[in-house]
Amino acid sequence: MEQQIPYKIYLDETELPKAWYNMRADMSVKPAPLLNPGTCQPLTAQELSGIFCEELVRQELNEADAWIPIPQEIRDFYKMYRPSPLVRAYCLERQLGTPAKIYYKFEGNNTSGSHKLNSAIAQAYYAKEQGLKGVTTETGAGQWGTALSMACSYFGLDCKVYMVKVSYEQKPFRREVMRVYGASVVPSPSDTTEVGRKILAEHPGTGGSLGCAISEAVEVATANPGYRYVLGSVLNQVLLHQSVIGLETKAALDKYGVKPDIIIGCAGGGSNLGGLIAPFMGEKLRGEADYRIVAVEPASCPSFTRGKFAYDFCDTGKICPLAKMYTLGSGFIPSPNHAGGLRFHGMSSTLSQLYHDGYMEAVSVEQTKVFEAAEQFARIEGILPAPESSHAIRVAIDEANKCKETGEAKTIVFGLTGTGYFDMVAYEKFHDGQMTDFVPTDADLQASFDTLPKVE
Ligand SMILES: *Cc1c(COP(=O)(O)O)cnc(C)c1O
Repeated sequence: MEQQIPYKIYLDETELPKAWYNMRADMSVKPAPLLNPGTCQPLTAQELSGIFCEELVRQELNEADAWIPIPQEIRDFYKMYRPSPLVRAYCLERQLGTPAKIYYKFEGNNTSGSHKLNSAIAQAYYAKEQGLKGVTTETGAGQWGTALSMACSYFGLDCKVYMVKVSYEQKPFRREVMRVYGASVVPSPSDTTEVGRKILAEHPGTGGSLGCAISEAVEVATANPGYRYVLGSVLNQVLLHQSVIGLETKAALDKYGVKPDIIIGCAGGGSNLGGLIAPFMGEKLRGEADYRIVAVEPASCPSFTRGKFAYDFCDTGKICPLAKMYTLGSGFIPSPNHAGGLRFHGMSSTLSQLYHDGYMEAVSVEQTKVFEAAEQFARIEGILPAPESSHAIRVAIDEANKCKETGEAKTIVFGLTGTGYFDMVAYEKFHDGQMTDFVPTDADLQASFDTLPKVE
């Protein structure tokens, strides 16, 4: 049996999932609803449809349907780069000398270099269906902006991307890729929005943050007829679309009768992890199987492991809905030295509830350890991993090393969410010994918790 498992388990396109899986349908305690920041009442579909596309609002609020069919046009686009391979990391296992069996689901095989295209194409499709002219969004490191630009050009939609200014300046090639796909890219904060002008007046020379860029993108979407705002992580709809990752992973493992013991994913806003674990968590929620599920986050932005489970704003300008989630406070800005992505102050409300209820674990890791793991992986498995993905690699290697000590042949699956070609400045810092590990103090975090909105 063992020898029969190939290095890469490919599914063919007829095995591409026909429906997304909605974990919330199987949760007995549902994630808390989004609240109107003005009234603190649950947002209605009508209120949300001023910001988001109508079908996406339905998906956001849908806690009843476990399966939501994937429209044929989206499946056709998926077929260009999916199903993605599930790789057995035989070479890494040999190098570690571990009895563990390690698999990774590789989502970096498309131009966006990450899993984000899985949701971008769905969100662009529904915007097109609704007859919209275009969409607005923010991007930090640039993977989401690239994915959305690709999806919008495919459907002939206008795409306005607010890119965090430091990234815009540090990653000019990311910006250029987005322009290849016809997007307009504005460094944020900018003078093109009211909220941007206000932030610039208060903090001249600021390099911006995801929270600022979200505020700008939402303002532009709500002020321009025919436009809506789209977001690449955190929201329920995004986790739903990303369930293709987990459904394919499970289908591939099932072919060989393999049951994972540990499933590991990096966690920024929670979309790749929520997608990877979806069908496995479904079995766990229904009492059919048990798995250890581990979220990995940076020690410099530790929302699960040190955050508060509370209602908070998703943006700096405080114009977005309030979400109940593990959060460090919307004013929290990770150290500028933090090079590994995963910078958002909050976490998906679905994953937050599951974590709160004990269905999954979380660990935080320091960035030099993350880059050590990234390089170890790159040198033996051939793929140059994104720093974000390397958080999961770190913990997969740590777990495999534990198996070496105990002699247990556990099966470990982790999400390799993307490639790191645009992250060479971070790799350079690591090589030159200029990378440090910044861990916020309790006092730093408390200052940020003090600004949490008072709800309930
Ligand atoms: C955006 C991104 C992440 C983190 O976002 P999640 O929503 O937590 O998945 C991880 N890896 C890569 C490559 C990304 O682009």
